[in-house]
Amino acid sequence: MWAQQTARCVIQQVDKPEDLIRQAEIELHTQNWIRNIGAQATVREVITIPVVVHVIYFDETENISDLQIFSQLQVLNEDFRFLNEATDRIPQTFQDLAADVELEFCLVNVDPDGQATNGITRTQTTYECIGNTLKEPGLTPDGTPRLYYTDLGGRDIWDSQSYLNLYVANTCDGFIGRAKLPGTVSPNEDAPIIDNDHFGSNCTPTSFPFDLGRTATHEVGHFFNLIHIFGDADECDIDDLVSDTPLQKEPYTQCPSHPQVSCNSLDMFMNFMDYVDDRCMLMFTTGQKNRMLATLAPGGPRAGLATSSLCGVPAVPTEDALRVFPNPVGNCLHLDFETIATGTIDIRLYNAFGQLVYERINSNTFALKSIDTTNLTDGVYWLVVEYGDDRISRKVIKTGAWN
Ligand SMILES: [Zn+2]
Repeated sequence: MWAQQTARCVIQQVDKPEDLIRQAEIELHTQNWIRNIGAQATVREVITIPVVVHVIYFDETENISDLQIFSQLQVLNEDFRFLNEATDRIPQTFQDLAADVELEFCLVNVDPDGQATNGITRTQTTYECIGNTLKEPGLTPDGTPRLYYTDLGGRDIWDSQSYLNLYVANTCDGFIGRAKLPGTVSPNEDAPIIDNDHFGSNCTPTSFPFDLGRTATHEVGHFFNLIHIFGDADECDIDDLVSDTPLQKEPYTQCPSHPQVSCNSLDMFMNFMDYVDDRCMLMFTTGQKNRMLATLAPGGPRAGLATSSLCGVPAVPTEDALRVFPNPVGNCLHLDFETIATGTIDIRLYNAFGQLVYERINSNTFALKSIDTTNLTDGVYWLVVEYGDDRISRKVIKTGAWN
């Protein structure tokens, strides 16, 4: 239907009667949960989703780095906590609808056998384009996606009731993300796929214009039962089942300017569930948040993820907990907060004259942060990280020779 516009993502179609029934049951649960939301506890804790990233690679260029994976976790945390630094670009008319979804994401440190893990698996495959689950060789001749099965050249999923499995592999076509809605797929294949060139953000090499980690944000939205904001139909009377998103006829691509109108209303093309470029995706709404949280509530299809302790015990920041590298730095300074898993921090960078050259306040502390240092002149800088009543400072040397 949108042959030139479907680069963002493809949703697996539902055709089996039992899947349609399961989907209807989930929808009933969702609508009931949302209807009763006023009766729920008003103080809700942030839910931390345990994540394992499976990298399935044919050649080493597809075997993305740990840093790239960390940067993707950072994007997920910022987008689902509404900390993405782009929120002031949301048009006034939609600003009150933008939501902190109150979901955070961590790489697990326990595998299904109870063994220690860094939350990342790496599997070399002999099947090129194994991330393409629409055709061979990504599909077996009988239609099974190889990616999800160790004995077919991929890697077995970790229990999808307990882990959010993100598969990173080369999709070799225009669809850089592949999604499934809850209840529409076998538990053995219940995991989004993101193309290796579009996983992660910041200073790590991903491909413009899908280069800021929003493909994973979008696919995880599907995983938590969001459909596209245009309702996956080229019509105005088909809704996305979310009450506070406007009806929208078709997807938007690239980076439109506001306002855009279809179906007699302003379109929210800057929503994470449209098809626009990464830099133009800015928000989930409260209605979308509620649909996602319904999946995690008791009786919901993702309830098993809501009570996980697979990410270990949150730690208190200490001087040793902050790693700053490389130093001297070239174009990209990384800050790794090791095991810190709670609270927010302020990050500032000062030049040798004490002038503020970079500031990021109220960041969450989950994942590695990256500061783009390309435009700093060579010299000495002071990095100051503040959290609670404590502060850590580090001397950082910028040199163009170090790239
Ligand atoms: Zn999609």
